[in-house]
Amino acid sequence: MLTAYLSSMRPRVTLALLLVLAAMLIGHSYASDLALVGAKVYLSPTEPPLENGSVLIHDGRIRAVGLRAKVKIPRGTKILDCTGLVVTAGFWNSHVHILTPGLIHADKLSPDETTTQLQAMLTQWGFTTVFDIASILKNTNLIRQRIAAGETKGPRILTVGEPFWVKTPIYVKSYLEANHADIPEIQSTPEARERVKQQVRDGADGIKIFANSIEQDGILTMPLEMAQGIVAEAHAHGKPVFAHVSNNKGIEVALESGVDILAHTTPMDDLWSPAFAQRLVAAHMALTPTLTLWEFESRKGSLPAANLDEGMNRAAEQLGAFFHAGGDVLFGTDVGYTDWFDTSEEFRWMARAGMSCQQILASLTTNPARRFGFSAHSGRIAKDFDADLVVLRADPCKDISAFSQVRYTIRNGTVIYTSGLSP
Ligand SMILES: [Zn+2]
Repeated sequence: MLTAYLSSMRPRVTLALLLVLAAMLIGHSYASDLALVGAKVYLSPTEPPLENGSVLIHDGRIRAVGLRAKVKIPRGTKILDCTGLVVTAGFWNSHVHILTPGLIHADKLSPDETTTQLQAMLTQWGFTTVFDIASILKNTNLIRQRIAAGETKGPRILTVGEPFWVKTPIYVKSYLEANHADIPEIQSTPEARERVKQQVRDGADGIKIFANSIEQDGILTMPLEMAQGIVAEAHAHGKPVFAHVSNNKGIEVALESGVDILAHTTPMDDLWSPAFAQRLVAAHMALTPTLTLWEFESRKGSLPAANLDEGMNRAAEQLGAFFHAGGDVLFGTDVGYTDWFDTSEEFRWMARAGMSCQQILASLTTNPARRFGFSAHSGRIAKDFDADLVVLRADPCKDISAFSQVRYTIRNGTVIYTSGLSP
């Protein structure tokens, strides 16, 4: 049929058409078929790993996964030899900020420069999806467009855009001014609700409130009625709400307003009793631990350095209390506010808080996928799931810091980071 149609056309046109078709076919098989061969494969946090397994990728999706001997690799497939390496589903970091000096004015960056910045902060640590929980929405949208268009290599970015605060926290005020960025302060609840609607229209995937903000003269707490109004508006649009908290009073506001994700522990306040942790779990609240944030703040001089060990231990104890009460932990580091891109210390502290390698893997994959509505196609290695994968140099169940030793990061079936290579 096609041949008959082609032969009825003038030869020059036919040749051109054939060349286009051939180019499409060749491009197709090279761009989209990839096989990871001979790895230890953690299919999910709850299944036993495959030894000597293979993952076959086609068109951005996982086409097959199984023992190496059982997975048939079609001819023309690009092979990544993963002997001695470990494959897991792509990692999520559910607390980042697309707000670093290198990313805050993306319009002045070339797509390659954007790739370099995203690599330093995210993709070289295995993140294939991140939740940005405070940035400039217009700027973050521009970066997302570049990634979607294939001009920039980066993770899937979900964003809340501009956060909602009564007063700009003291530690971000000068940074925003120096970078000519403006995030408004809320004047009233009706105005805040309007802004929620606007940000959702502009593409926000969630909303972030500052239940507390640190000011010169102490910690300011958002009025409960205001928090409730913002959360109700976000939920009316089906969007999750994150809350920054600095103390347990802020957690009470988060609890009473129906916040979904707590952005930090509160090591400077009272420890979390089992009963308190139970209340968080009963309210279906998730937590991004950001344990190393406290070390970052101490070293910066924002917290008393003498109490560093005590502060870190208290934060880990609070995470442990939450976790043992059955709480939903979402890996998150506050990177982009901190410039501590290396994740190894965070993994060590999570393990110290009592989490096993499988439980930490869940916080990196299945927990956020479920929490944010992606679990039908993301978070596990299974047929037809997103080909978002991390290849590690060692087994995190033998050494927890192996979670930060990334060999390749693969997003939608494309290798977006290879260790030792610049983008
Ligand atoms: Zn943060």
